[in-house]
Amino acid sequence: MPRLPDQPPVILWFRQDLRVVDHPALNAAVQSAAPVIPLYILDDETPGRWRPGGASRWWLEDSLAALDADLRERGSRLILRRGKATDVLRRVADETAAAGVYFTRRYEPSHAEEEAAVARDLKERGLACRRFGGSLLFEPEDLRSKAGAPFRVFTPFYRACLARDGIAAPLPAPTKIAPPPDWPASDRLEDWGLRPRSPNWAKGFSPTWRPGTAGAVARLEAFLDESLADYAEGRDRPDRKGTSGLSPHLHFGEIGPRQLWHRTNHESAVRENTEPGGRSFLRELVWREFCTHLLHHWPDMTDAPFNSSFAGFPWRENDAALEAWQKGETGYPIVDAGLRQLWATGWMHNRVRMVAASFLTKHLLIPWQEGARWFWDTLVDADLANNSAGWQWVAGCGADAAPYFRIFNPVLQGRKFDPDGAYVRRWVPELEGLPASAVHAPWESDRRVSGYPEPIVDHKTARHLALAAYAEAKQGGAG
Ligand code: FAD
Repeated sequence: MPRLPDQPPVILWFRQDLRVVDHPALNAAVQSAAPVIPLYILDDETPGRWRPGGASRWWLEDSLAALDADLRERGSRLILRRGKATDVLRRVADETAAAGVYFTRRYEPSHAEEEAAVARDLKERGLACRRFGGSLLFEPEDLRSKAGAPFRVFTPFYRACLARDGIAAPLPAPTKIAPPPDWPASDRLEDWGLRPRSPNWAKGFSPTWRPGTAGAVARLEAFLDESLADYAEGRDRPDRKGTSGLSPHLHFGEIGPRQLWHRTNHESAVRENTEPGGRSFLRELVWREFCTHLLHHWPDMTDAPFNSSFAGFPWRENDAALEAWQKGETGYPIVDAGLRQLWATGWMHNRVRMVAASFLTKHLLIPWQEGARWFWDTLVDADLANNSAGWQWVAGCGADAAPYFRIFNPVLQGRKFDPDGAYVRRWVPELEGLPASAVHAPWESDRRVSGYPEPIVDHKTARHLALAAYAEAKQGGAG
């Protein structure tokens, strides 16, 4: 469309969609032929206590810098402002005489409410408000069971996703984004203080991660080359590079699920022996959809058990045990390796997340909400939907959850999924000298291990107590 003289600009409000490829809102803004003002708002007020945690803020700094660079390549730039989104949008719209705001929707309850407030405000002021999808393969409203209700169980949800007609191909990035005649003022990214300084606890993050779309694409390609063929089994092995490591990139929207869907299907079709791995990988992507679907339909699942009969579960307060768990000093090597990996890199392998979460909620009987809060602050991929659903699933009170009485034995889990002990030795150097036969239960070994704690609870006793707590809750209604 030709540009009209002095056409008012539109604001492209970037949120958890920090990319220029496959971005329906950006494409629509560009196609409107108006100048586009890309804006990111650091809004710590709207999400309240679910504002981004320390590790997420670490990620955000480089992600915003990468987005700014991608925009500059297209003749544009990123404007940064801080404050409540409704207020900031109103101010920037006034300053620039903008005609409207385009954005990608979010599904967390507070952000969804803020969107509605923004839409009302813009409407009252006679400005356009255009909301787009793009962060999911399917919008939560579009998937319903045969009875017309939201899904509560994964397998039928998965089947319903597969039965839907094709997933649209990703949109290309615009080659040029029209700038406004004058740019509004922007904060300086460095002034936001997103990175920790004293102490800098995130020193180990930089070698592991490269936030931004280029980093996401590099990870995807490396994963397809090296791990796709073996993914169906390799995904459970923390001692291997068996998974994609794409979760923080997906969380921040640096790469979209449609890109992953199509790229993976293509690879599975052209590379030998990758079909089962491809199917299994895309199934995990549907788990991500399922978690967001749950959060959208059950917004209080961040705090309240999905299965309400767990509301009276006899959880225990135990600060010393919680701290031992957080520091990776429980005396159970696979649990400690996971928590230390998390602290060092901002990420933990999925199998180990399950074992570590099970240990906290079942061996220590500490409420799952405590674990979810720790993950929220320490994960670079902290995601309200995936984290809440993951914790509730492990704790036994979630949608389609593992039954509470299925209690992981951390020693057997270690032996099964880290058979040579390479993962444990990497993150728990005190156990470096132990052979594979002893590394998951050092207390059984004749060799001296210095500096590593004895188990803080005995597995059999803890299991017994957990089952007793479950029986007590069941009598009171947990089912
Ligand atoms: P891959 O195996 O490569 O999977 C590809 C993508 O699929 C992931 O990036 C992720 O977006 C999605 N995915 C994979 N497994 C799951 C799952 N079980 N549930 C939902 N989506 C999934 N994931 C988060 O992104 N953020 C969280 O805050 C989070 N908290 C969790 C807490 C607990 C207690 C548990 C058990 C799981 C949690 N997960 C969370 C899910 C899962 O552990 C991570 O998504 C996965 O480990 C990320 O690694 P990856 O990208 O290499 O995964």
